[in-house]
Amino acid sequence: MKWKEQLLNLTPYQPGKSIEQVKKEFGLDKIVKLASNENPFGCSEKVLFTMNQSPSFFALYPDGYATELRSVLANHLSVEEEQIIFGNGSDEIIQMISRALLGPETNTVMAVPTFPQYKHNAVIEGAEIREIPLVNGEHDLDAMLAAIDENTAVVWVCSPNNPTGNYVNESSLLSFLKEVPEDILVVLDEAYYEYVVADDYYKALDLISQFKNLIVLRTFSKIYGLASLRVGYGIANPETIRALEPVREPFNVNKFAQAAASAAIGDQQFIESCRQKNREGLEQFYAFCKKHGLQYFPSQGNFILINFNADSNEVFQFLLEKGYIVRSGKALGFPGSVRVTIGSREQNEGVLEAMEQYLVKQAAAL
Ligand SMILES: *Cc1c(COP(=O)(O)O)cnc(C)c1O
Repeated sequence: MKWKEQLLNLTPYQPGKSIEQVKKEFGLDKIVKLASNENPFGCSEKVLFTMNQSPSFFALYPDGYATELRSVLANHLSVEEEQIIFGNGSDEIIQMISRALLGPETNTVMAVPTFPQYKHNAVIEGAEIREIPLVNGEHDLDAMLAAIDENTAVVWVCSPNNPTGNYVNESSLLSFLKEVPEDILVVLDEAYYEYVVADDYYKALDLISQFKNLIVLRTFSKIYGLASLRVGYGIANPETIRALEPVREPFNVNKFAQAAASAAIGDQQFIESCRQKNREGLEQFYAFCKKHGLQYFPSQGNFILINFNADSNEVFQFLLEKGYIVRSGKALGFPGSVRVTIGSREQNEGVLEAMEQYLVKQAAAL
């Protein structure tokens, strides 16, 4: 078979272990999954009534233009309907952007470590990848600028960055955008936007009219608690959206997702309360790290990367056996760390207790 050469060394996404798998493997009856930055508080109850549907609902294709959701979202964000593109998760928008702009003659610039799907899709398209190391968990925007040349097609900025939780501040982002040539698409991935509380965080949507080459990605998978339904979106100038639309599959966002996302937008109280509880949860982790002298990055997301100065797979395994699924930093580019999703207060207490046991064991082994 004549597979693209670049596929031969590419491994498919490795999902974390499922709750059922872990229960079985370790004979546990309670498992807490803090591995994929899902919302520990679920989703708004307003979503639930949209799920009970008649047979004709299932038989008909979804609205390929997501008319209702588009209108609700445009209104909520105060943008034009023509400025939005929907994806089967923002993962799919990353794929669409890559498909539309990347190929063997182009290169693409991104941070490392960052969200792995930018690179993954660039590899599939055969583009050259220029990875610029983070500095103290933050994007090195100057070095990213320096890496741009006439063959650069897409630059990726993840803010807050997964897996560090750091963000780009307003003045840095502005000076960066002013320097990026107008014919290079800047993708600003704000999957954790609703969790951000930093005062010097920019207002991405206000920048779109100023910078025609900017697209902002957001999702219903994180704070909105709808990861299973797969819906994300991009916001850009209408010309950018028009150029991307032919790449989009006609019925890419299913009916449940559209109905659920529309309903979820209507419950901003739920979002506010999750943002608040997430900050309180982060404080639990910060206090723990300070108490034990563990390094971490202050996070604007709903996760924290903690440096255990140990083999992260070992930390991962220890926590797993106690019923807590986290992400080992090894696959994320931080081999001494684990990334933990902020859970409910009780879940946080539980995982911190297990981490404490790990530290005791580690100290005893020295
Ligand atoms: C989770 C995540 C996404 C993907 O979200 P979906 O909308 O579920 O595809 C995109 N970017 C970042 C940085 C993420 O952490």
